[in-house]
Amino acid sequence: MKSLKLCDTTLRDGEQAAGVSFTRAEKLEIAKLLSESGVEQAEVGIPAMGRREQEDIAAIAELGLPMKMMTWNRAMVSDIDKAWNTGVNWSHVSIPVSEIQLRGKLGLSPAEGLTKLQRAAEYALRLGMTVSVGMEDSSRASMEFLVELVNSLYKEGIRWFRYADTVSAHHPGQMAERVSTLLGAVPADVELEVHCHNDFGLAVANTLSGIAAGATWASTTIAGIGERTGNAAMEEVALAWRYLYGGQCAVRPEMLKRLADKVIAASGRNVGDAKPIVGQLAFTHESGIHVDGLMKDTATYQTFDPSEVGREHRFVLGKHSGSGSVAHVLGKLGLEANPDTVARLLDRVREYAEVYKDNVPESLLVEWLMEENAQTRDVV
Ligand SMILES: [Zn+2]
Repeated sequence: MKSLKLCDTTLRDGEQAAGVSFTRAEKLEIAKLLSESGVEQAEVGIPAMGRREQEDIAAIAELGLPMKMMTWNRAMVSDIDKAWNTGVNWSHVSIPVSEIQLRGKLGLSPAEGLTKLQRAAEYALRLGMTVSVGMEDSSRASMEFLVELVNSLYKEGIRWFRYADTVSAHHPGQMAERVSTLLGAVPADVELEVHCHNDFGLAVANTLSGIAAGATWASTTIAGIGERTGNAAMEEVALAWRYLYGGQCAVRPEMLKRLADKVIAASGRNVGDAKPIVGQLAFTHESGIHVDGLMKDTATYQTFDPSEVGREHRFVLGKHSGSGSVAHVLGKLGLEANPDTVARLLDRVREYAEVYKDNVPESLLVEWLMEENAQTRDVV
């Protein structure tokens, strides 16, 4: 299976999430971690946003990381000038490609939009920049227009095109069909990137579907932070590609938790404890049946070993625990109890979980064990 390449946009689309604003120090740290994690390319900001953003971008570029950088720009000569001044040579030039956005936002026909895009792209090329073209709202554009756009910009020397499912208008089957139709109608060395949003919870599925259908690059953000409901989560795309599709990906999985913790803290957001791979509960088990299976053979309830991502299974005590879980937690603490005591402790665990709607802290279990033991001694 082929290799998936990542163009991470945590520092651009991720920061566009409502209320998220990274400081320069945070941006530098995130960029370093992305590069160290094996990400091939990162979008690092929007120069047109102003001087402060331009200085941040320049500071990231000055790190001289092995990871390539690109800036995000509208199809406007003034945006390209600002991008050029940041010192980042790779310029993403974006324009809406659906009629609804072209006419509604820019008041342009598709032909006029293409001309505007060509002007901006040619200008960036003349400056000696490498250009990738962003096709905003690709999902709702006519395929005929997309093919025409890619083929005409290909003639200018552009090879990289981003297919953006900006408003989550595709399901995975449509994404696969559209990507393969587009790639079938353009030169073989076109590199297509898929950029998906998560309004139906399908950003990761759509991204993987696009890659499996022939796209080369996946546009992702760490923990999926981004506009509205967010983007495709990098860690989910990378690991699902590896474990479910049997594909290659240069990402170092053991770095993902650290990277996600950094981004989540800097974003000031709560992405939820159940977030796959990086969430607090991603490898936490309560159900007695699952815990029993995992204690016999970890393969019973896992697709990949949590140690791959530097984590481990964690067993907690709650309403669905079994006596095996209670004995296991006690054993882990160097304690033991006879089966009758374990049964009484389990009753107390279940009662606590129902009343407090929470797991039982280990310290409380130890307290209960001491109480039970004291009572047993009194009876004797
Ligand atoms: Zn986006």
